[in-house]
Amino acid sequence: RSFTAMGGCHSYPSATKADKTAEGINNNLEERPYLQQEYVCQRITHTDVFALTALPPGVDKAEWLASNTVAFFKNINLFSSALSEFCTPSNCPTACGPGNTVYFWTDDHGRKLKCSAPLYFDYAMSYIQDLLTDEDVFPTKAGSVFPTGFVFLVQKVFLLFFRTLAHIYWSHYRETLALGLHPHLNTLFTHLTVFCRQHSLLEPEHIEPLQDLIAALRQQD
Ligand SMILES: [Zn+2]
Repeated sequence: RSFTAMGGCHSYPSATKADKTAEGINNNLEERPYLQQEYVCQRITHTDVFALTALPPGVDKAEWLASNTVAFFKNINLFSSALSEFCTPSNCPTACGPGNTVYFWTDDHGRKLKCSAPLYFDYAMSYIQDLLTDEDVFPTKAGSVFPTGFVFLVQKVFLLFFRTLAHIYWSHYRETLALGLHPHLNTLFTHLTVFCRQHSLLEPEHIEPLQDLIAALRQQD
């Protein structure tokens, strides 16, 4: 199996006005309610996230990345399933994030697929699930070694995690507020972005569309 063929990591700014209009049902380019102080200050815990994400003394770095990948996968899956009834092909015909960035899935043959958000995130979560259960990639047995390129794979997985939450902030924030889940979302997103920063998992260009939110959340500490 070739791991480098995996996709899902291409994104392009949405180019046409028609695209933006199509996305206008969910998104509001002017108003970013997730930045409002009354919401951005809400978290379920004020634990020291830097201490939580740092590599503990004596722990192997790959082991630390692996165990956190599994934990984030569970939490992000759980969170997005709470909103899945709102993320439908008709509500979200394209997989988009802040600024109406459109995410394309790349299939095994390198073809870019423009697909609905629920389909994109289904592909993403299945892809990650397959990796996590592949003993050659995420070994669980004592004495086994992590494969060459493990960090590269982890970076791809965290980009998909980031996009999952970015889509929720962009397209489903009102529903998140209505369900009272915004303190959970802020906590999960803060944990994720601090973890990625500490372990250099995301490129600046990937986090840029939510840099305003990341800065606002950091100011709450
Ligand atoms: Zn959606």
